[in-house]
Amino acid sequence: MIQDMIEINENKTKIVATYGPSTMDDGVFKEMIIQGVDVFRFNFSHGDYDFHLKGFQQLKDFNKIHKTSIAILADLQGPKIRIGSTIEGGINLIEGQKILLTNQEQISDEHKLFVSYENLSQDVKPNEDILIDDGKLKLRSIKVIDEFTIETQVIEGGLLTSKKGVNFPNTKTTISAITPKDWADFEFAVEHRANWIALSFVRDAKDILEIKNKLAEKNSYIKVIAKLEKPEAIDNLDEIIEVADGVMVARGDLAVEVPLERVPLLQKEIVRKCNQKGKPVIVATQMMESMTDKSFPTRAEISDVANAVIDGADALMLSGETSVGKYPVKVIETMNKIITQIEANSKIIYNQYDLATHESNKDFLSDALCFQCVNLAENINADAIIGMTRSGYTGFRISSFRPKSKVFIFTDNRPLLYTMNLLWGVKCFYYDGFAGTDQTIADVIELLKSYNQVKKNDVVINTASMPFSDRAKTNTIKISIVS
Ligand code: PEP
Repeated sequence: MIQDMIEINENKTKIVATYGPSTMDDGVFKEMIIQGVDVFRFNFSHGDYDFHLKGFQQLKDFNKIHKTSIAILADLQGPKIRIGSTIEGGINLIEGQKILLTNQEQISDEHKLFVSYENLSQDVKPNEDILIDDGKLKLRSIKVIDEFTIETQVIEGGLLTSKKGVNFPNTKTTISAITPKDWADFEFAVEHRANWIALSFVRDAKDILEIKNKLAEKNSYIKVIAKLEKPEAIDNLDEIIEVADGVMVARGDLAVEVPLERVPLLQKEIVRKCNQKGKPVIVATQMMESMTDKSFPTRAEISDVANAVIDGADALMLSGETSVGKYPVKVIETMNKIITQIEANSKIIYNQYDLATHESNKDFLSDALCFQCVNLAENINADAIIGMTRSGYTGFRISSFRPKSKVFIFTDNRPLLYTMNLLWGVKCFYYDGFAGTDQTIADVIELLKSYNQVKKNDVVINTASMPFSDRAKTNTIKISIVS
């Protein structure tokens, strides 16, 4: 993010904005970035490849012209189950009414609803809840009728219209977490060089490893985010965080799949565990929902954004607010004002030194060094921490300890410039000099001076790996005063 061309908001907590019809205009797009978008999310539940490709290109062109590092997050739909088309005007479901569910394609009517769930009769057991349209409508299974059909009873009634999402929170589903559509979207994301891929409805570490193994086969640097929205994912939280590169608290489906009152504490627990493991975590969904068509948020939304920052989220996500909303720029500006206020006045978000959890980690020594670097920065009131990385690890780790000083990470691994833009507090720059540690430190400080990121007499802390030629993990800290 070399800001010699445009001034970009400098908050530490990052903003992920969903790309869509409301963000496409070049002027709106630029203004959103100036106001603080760090990552654009392309939601593969909507839009075709032509649409996504135009968006990817718009973003890459912007980065090239303005020397920014805005990242691309490709969000794969996963096995989202939906009702098909209904009869015209929808279906009025009445409490107590019995209704069949089938996986044989048909127009749904008041006797039978079509759901896109291949193993419906095999997976769903009697007395399990079936939630439709984000839980607004509720059915309960009674019995299996045949290999395609089950009988249910309406528990919460209302109007059902076409294509609504369906959740089976009590059912042990056997559907693969990665559908043929997801694999096609994955190929698109790899071919067009997304920086992050998010996988929906993850259940365990295996789901993530399947994607990561495919990326490894392709020698891709893309990193993988696990969207936590199923009860099984909560049961397998530790193993998922261990293997994923990042996590999203996908509160939309999560609040349907688990009792909704559990979501606030789950958010805090997931964020804390991710911070401890050095994995970036995004808090998503309905953060500023009312701003989809109003120019001002609700009081509850203001508090929700503030609390997610205080919880320790790396990034906050906007969905319909930016993709189809009326105020895509205003919502970013408003979210950033809240973030700025909290970051300037809350002490508890900084200096998270939970090193005890790292002892079993194979990278314990470099973790300890990054931890000491942040500790030292606090003790000497350093203006900046400057890290070097090839794998990204040092950037992820320094960020996870939440230093108050600025964090600049240099890498010769170009895709990482964009990937690391999701990380709390991190600004990333390119550097590919190979002249040894002293020269490298002098060079990167000079570069930061030329980018107006540090100035004469600033106190900075550099991390490095010595001997430089080994290109091993970070093992050195140096304090300098910018001359
Ligand atoms: C969510 O459920 O909160 C979420 C982010 O997923 P999606 O918007 O892709 O359904």
